[in-house]
Amino acid sequence: MDLSEQTVSMIQNVAYLIASILFIRGLKGLTHPRTAVRGNLTGSLAMLIAVVATLWAGGVVEWTWIIAGLAVGSTIGTVLALKVPMTGMPQMVAIFNGFGGGASVLVAGAQFGIVLFGIQAAEAATEVATGAVGGSSLGMTFLVATALSGLIGAVTFTGSFVAFAKLAEFKFAIGGKKYRFSSAMLLPGRHLINLTIALLAIGLCVLLTMNPTTVMWYWLLVAAACALGVLITIPIGGADMPVVIALLNSYSGLAACATGFVIGNNVLIIAGSLVGASGLVLTKIMCKAMNRSLANVIFARLGPTSDAPLADDVYEGKIKSTSADEVAMLLDGVQRVVIVPGYGMAVSQAQHAIRDFMNLIESRGVEVEFGIHPVAGRMPGHMNVLLAEADIPYDKLKEMDEINSTMDTVDVALVIGANDVVNPVAKTDPTSPIAGMPIIDVDKCRTVVVIKRSLSPGFAGIPNPLFAQDNTLMFFSDGKKAFVDLIAAVKES
Ligand code: NDP
Repeated sequence: MDLSEQTVSMIQNVAYLIASILFIRGLKGLTHPRTAVRGNLTGSLAMLIAVVATLWAGGVVEWTWIIAGLAVGSTIGTVLALKVPMTGMPQMVAIFNGFGGGASVLVAGAQFGIVLFGIQAAEAATEVATGAVGGSSLGMTFLVATALSGLIGAVTFTGSFVAFAKLAEFKFAIGGKKYRFSSAMLLPGRHLINLTIALLAIGLCVLLTMNPTTVMWYWLLVAAACALGVLITIPIGGADMPVVIALLNSYSGLAACATGFVIGNNVLIIAGSLVGASGLVLTKIMCKAMNRSLANVIFARLGPTSDAPLADDVYEGKIKSTSADEVAMLLDGVQRVVIVPGYGMAVSQAQHAIRDFMNLIESRGVEVEFGIHPVAGRMPGHMNVLLAEADIPYDKLKEMDEINSTMDTVDVALVIGANDVVNPVAKTDPTSPIAGMPIIDVDKCRTVVVIKRSLSPGFAGIPNPLFAQDNTLMFFSDGKKAFVDLIAAVKES
């Protein structure tokens, strides 16, 4: 049955409306661990509806190209999903944000080229070309959206790849000196360089919208924005990456939204706006968790300063190590235990062993709770997801402010693979890269047991005086093994 163009468009828009409602419901589901899986599936269904409706209505691209694109993309996605370990997820999310920005750049650039060439060809054919080719025929909304897609998409693309390198904690050496990619890399005169390139990019945006005679303006804008993405992300270091990840996520949505205007696709505008808005909300939450303003994150000087104390000075002669048997004895007869998980729990995949341990000591009358720091791990909600996966009841997970208010009544705090989020330096040293970040106050508990493999620093790269505190015992072990050993020791005691 042949449908009229109007009917096809109507059916497509109804499908887009259903997809948009499902996107919003999916997002709502993602706000709580109990409904998160359903929310994820709802969002996936919405995306399927949007893709099918777009392909069904047809377009300028041939099916062979679409199928080739789907095959290549699905293969890469499947291989990555199967190969990348859970601890590599944050880096993968960073890359996906980057690909989102890159896709917006390419789609908007291609559409701009097609429309511009079409107009120029039509004008040449009817011999009405006046010298100011095309500019008057292109709508302002289209041109502004194209410029924004190029600008935001390219910043997202390169910024996300820098974020990827930082999250992967790549290391490199220059002149025999070793550097951590995750630290702040402060190029001399960077503010001036960034300002110059930002002004250049804005100038190219204006040129593109006021005088759209060649696609070269667009690709020059993309080149400038790519440089800007690298330059503004590279100086942001250590503890501020959570904000950067959330912000880039938001940018990828804004770029997609702008591209939706370029190609006239309603569902892309709506989905892009949802990603942009939710990314901004997340950015605000992350800024609050770090006690930083967004401007401070983007422009401030970060990274361990030369005055940062050396690990030897902080730890020498002050570290007391312990064992599973000793901790089991310590737990005998206690009333309240708080477990504070961090990135090391994700690395060791200790969550299931932790659940078994929790059940065991609860059966002996101990009250167990979890203190969750908003930036623990390497992505927002990292700890909540892992603990929910192990069926640890959600009401046992206490947010930082709630748990901190009762920390002085805790008998034993078990810190598993957390470091920066329990580092008291955040409160005492204004030059530290984590200065001002609220922490979980385990130092106020009667006894603190820190489970990690060594005295290595966390993501921010600084020593942690908590490990040398009088009431702290260091249990050097892989996180999962430590809890398996603890279960055996408690059963024996
Ligand atoms: P940290 O990165 O501060 O510390 C993790 C600790 O885990 C390390 O000191 C490491 O010590 C230990 N560890 C690693 N593997 C194991 C293992 N197998 N068993 C036991 N311990 C292990 O983690 P936190 O969660 O405390 O802090 C998160 C940091 O990451 C913050 O600086 C935050 O700003 C940053 N960040 C957070 C993001 C987010 O969105 N949540 C995003 C990007 C960055 P050892 O090697 O000695 O075992």
